[in-house]
Amino acid sequence: YLIVVFIMSKLINMDIAMSTGHLLDDTRLPSLPPALADKLRTDNDSISLASTDYGNIIRQSPLAVLRPSSTADIISLVQSSYVSSSAARLLTIAARGVSHSVQGQAMARFGVVVDMPSSGNSDDPDAVTVASIYDNASGEYLHYADVRSGVLWIDVLRATIKQGLAPVSWTDYLYLTVGGTLSNAGISGQTFRHGPQINNVLELDVITGRGEFFSGCSRSNISELFYAVLGGLGQFGIITRARIVLGPVQNRVKWIKMLYNDFSAFTRDQERLISINGKNQSNALNYLEGNLLMNQGGGSSDNWWPSSFPESDVERISSLVTDHGIVYCIEVAKYYDNDSRDSVLKDLDELFTGSGYVPGFKFERDVSLEEFLGRVRLRDNHDQAHPWLNLFVPKSRFSDFDNGVFKDIVLRNNITTGLVLVYPMNRTKWDNQMSASIPDEEVFYAVGFLHSSGLNDWQRFDRQNKQILQYCKDNGINVKQYLPQYHTKEDWESHFGSKWRTFLTRKSRFDPKMILSPGQRIFT
Ligand code: FAD
Repeated sequence: YLIVVFIMSKLINMDIAMSTGHLLDDTRLPSLPPALADKLRTDNDSISLASTDYGNIIRQSPLAVLRPSSTADIISLVQSSYVSSSAARLLTIAARGVSHSVQGQAMARFGVVVDMPSSGNSDDPDAVTVASIYDNASGEYLHYADVRSGVLWIDVLRATIKQGLAPVSWTDYLYLTVGGTLSNAGISGQTFRHGPQINNVLELDVITGRGEFFSGCSRSNISELFYAVLGGLGQFGIITRARIVLGPVQNRVKWIKMLYNDFSAFTRDQERLISINGKNQSNALNYLEGNLLMNQGGGSSDNWWPSSFPESDVERISSLVTDHGIVYCIEVAKYYDNDSRDSVLKDLDELFTGSGYVPGFKFERDVSLEEFLGRVRLRDNHDQAHPWLNLFVPKSRFSDFDNGVFKDIVLRNNITTGLVLVYPMNRTKWDNQMSASIPDEEVFYAVGFLHSSGLNDWQRFDRQNKQILQYCKDNGINVKQYLPQYHTKEDWESHFGSKWRTFLTRKSRFDPKMILSPGQRIFT
């Protein structure tokens, strides 16, 4: 048996050396169990795919890609790495969803990338299973879906909506994996009301960096690992299953956009609208976001953001933007069904009475829930780089941010061509025990500069991103990056702030050899 293991591991190493073109010193891969041999890919296509991401900025090649057919395969890989890795010979492992990161976060240079969708995708009948239990405490049914972590959110929607249910908290774009977004937070226009996606998880199955498998981690069972992994940037374990909260579906959506030429009116209305967020407040919106429209071509003309402005209004919207330099757009949605239609229309009328949008610049659509949730589609982006910057900005300094960043840096540089998202959320809807780091204020804004550039042209956007961060630093605006990209230990420490100590303790407990998700560059 030992001889077979030995020969297999040699063969695997030789294969990798040939296909990657590296002169491989075969001590780099530990003796991996023979059962993994036919699931490890070292061909050029597999390596090349795992060396890139949506950002198209960083390229790092792993030694091999694991296409697991079961959780056991991943456990086996992590255990082998844990047992054989030493500081001198570290075999790192990155779970990879669909690599919609922009700075190599799902890569593992000279390590192994685990292709999570292989271990259960939408073709698998067990990938998403829906159930309901009666909750004695609330006297209500609790609905949930058990989902394999490599499944896309669009497939969670398709599987649950058939049963009249759907997750309550979403991302804008649904072609992202459950494991990938739960490792960050998962935010969208529902976050102000339901919290990020990480807050709507009941249970997780997780493989730690020691190769231990824990099933059913929750707020009351193995809670330290549960909290660590949610928003944990892949640092503490590989999520293999998540139990996601579902709510009953209302099939229709009133989808409204309003344009503002005054920043104070824009933020006042956004903050007022998100303050109505209680469970029993029937007039609460289901979704609220916002974005900037600028002369430079941002906003509605962006190549992946759907323009929901009527064609016939585009000209007068453009004039408004030309007159003001920046126009702020609030976008809201309210779900309804046949029974609630009339009361929803009345609630919306009342909600917008006295709003500060420019008269005549309110646009309404009526669409199905599926059309609304699936509204963001991408064209093929292989020929573009995405030097994105996502920030959480505390409300108390948002006006300074507007003056220094939107109205100065961004307008002066005159390069912003992608969408700039701007919307507030409530801190109370986040669970502070989870790893995700947010500003220490009750209300804070998500600001996303979602740039697209040519493959050799991303540096000027990167320079603008750095200018923005420097401006915030110089002016004491305590922003936190979402989908963070830091380069020094000090920056990570400052990002996590009072959570940094807990982050380190959890790392030493669950991944002491620092095997997992090296592409985040926190410990490597
Ligand atoms: P990957 O990029 O593959 O992985 C991200 C990180 O998570 C890596 O460190 C990886 O190692 C780790 N990881 C992946 N799977 C697992 C797992 N099962 N267990 C543990 N760790 C794991 N984010 C939002 O919050 N809201 C949005 O509306 C939104 N829209 C987006 C739209 C586009 C077009 C793009 C490109 C990104 C968007 N994002 C959004 C960001 C997105 O949520 C993150 O980039 C997320 O990581 C992407 O998921 P993924 O499956 O591609 O993860």
